[in-house]
Amino acid sequence: MTIDQFDFNGKKAIVRVDFNVPLDENGHITDDTRIRGALPTLKKILNDGGSLIIMSHMGKPKGKVNPKFSLGQIKDAVSAALGVPVEFAPDCAKAAEAAAALKPGQVLLLENLRFYPEEEGKPVGIDKEDPAYDAAKKEMKERQKEFAKTLAGYADVYVNDAFGTAHRRHASTAVIADYFDADHKMLGYLMEKEVNAVDNILSDIKRPFTAIMGGSKVSTKIGIIENLMDKVDNLILCGGMTYTFAKAQGGKVGDSLCENDKLQLALDIMAKAKEKGVNLVLGVDCVAGDAFSNDCNTKICSVMDIPEGWEGLDAGPETRKLFADTIRGSKTILWNGPAGVFEFDNFTAGSRAIADAIVEATKNGAFSLVGGGDSVACINKFGLADEVSYVSTGGGALLEAIEGKVLPGIAAIKG
Ligand code: AMP
Repeated sequence: MTIDQFDFNGKKAIVRVDFNVPLDENGHITDDTRIRGALPTLKKILNDGGSLIIMSHMGKPKGKVNPKFSLGQIKDAVSAALGVPVEFAPDCAKAAEAAAALKPGQVLLLENLRFYPEEEGKPVGIDKEDPAYDAAKKEMKERQKEFAKTLAGYADVYVNDAFGTAHRRHASTAVIADYFDADHKMLGYLMEKEVNAVDNILSDIKRPFTAIMGGSKVSTKIGIIENLMDKVDNLILCGGMTYTFAKAQGGKVGDSLCENDKLQLALDIMAKAKEKGVNLVLGVDCVAGDAFSNDCNTKICSVMDIPEGWEGLDAGPETRKLFADTIRGSKTILWNGPAGVFEFDNFTAGSRAIADAIVEATKNGAFSLVGGGDSVACINKFGLADEVSYVSTGGGALLEAIEGKVLPGIAAIKG
């Protein structure tokens, strides 16, 4: 079933959204992108004459009630975004009465699902090494099913519009789907868009296909790097991982971020790229700083020769040109992870060069997908989010989907 095919008139819909929005110390929302992202789905249900039960997690309360992570803080913002009053259920597992009382057009927002350990389904307070862990896990899985069943009992239909958590088999993202038949569960519009964007990258690859992987470490990106090697023509590796590659090749990297236990891995990646005919593009120069701060002294160095007391914090001018030239000639582009410490205004040039080249390639007909928390923050910082083909809301979920893994949240609905 697709959301467009379904008539919500007179139906109660329980919708899993990702309202894990950033809040300031006074509980005010600092970026409402995620709320706006869910509006097309929520409005379609209300406009059809349905009623809404909205559920989400916020932060990591680890299975305990914690007012700091209460969704009550965003009730008024959700109401303003939808243009209708919103009721709040202060206990997500005891909202049956409030849900039953909903009339068409009315909205109920449930308290943070992760106040219950059943949402994530991981046993709490017991170490993985403990001999009793397996039994505790089994018991928690049973409790997770009960919790999901309670949530499912509130509604006639289940909609999942939370791509950011689609790679998790949680009660509200996957298990709940078992309590609805195929005609009464579906992906929301945001999810559909995300799935299509990934499909576009994976199934209809126009070449050359260039992936740009940045960020801080090789170790956290190795799965996706290895997987991409079978798909891409050009693989640009940038950001902090540059220095692990430089050191692995005998370079002096000074105080740069470097994973000394991953030097062999870096050499293996280089060998594998060669074997597969992938054009691996690594930084050749960098903007080094004499401290990890925006206002430190800087100089341009070869990545192979960074003095002690200095660290590479951004891509240098030659590297930027190399990256931009590769990107400009591409027809499919995936960008995950910044090329430097873009949070510091003086070290944005590398990421900016990448973003500008992606925008140019997109104007020339390339399909460009930017995803993962930091790259999204980066493209937003440059005000260029509207000039790439698609900006994904998913970090881990996006990477797992591109790795070719089946996301539990999507499998639960599509089978
Ligand atoms: P990740 O979470 O692995 O995608 O890494 C993103 C982070 O990597 C951002 O916060 C960047 O500031 C950081 N980063 C990028 N380049 C460097 C670098 N050369 N040295 C230290 N951190 C970096």
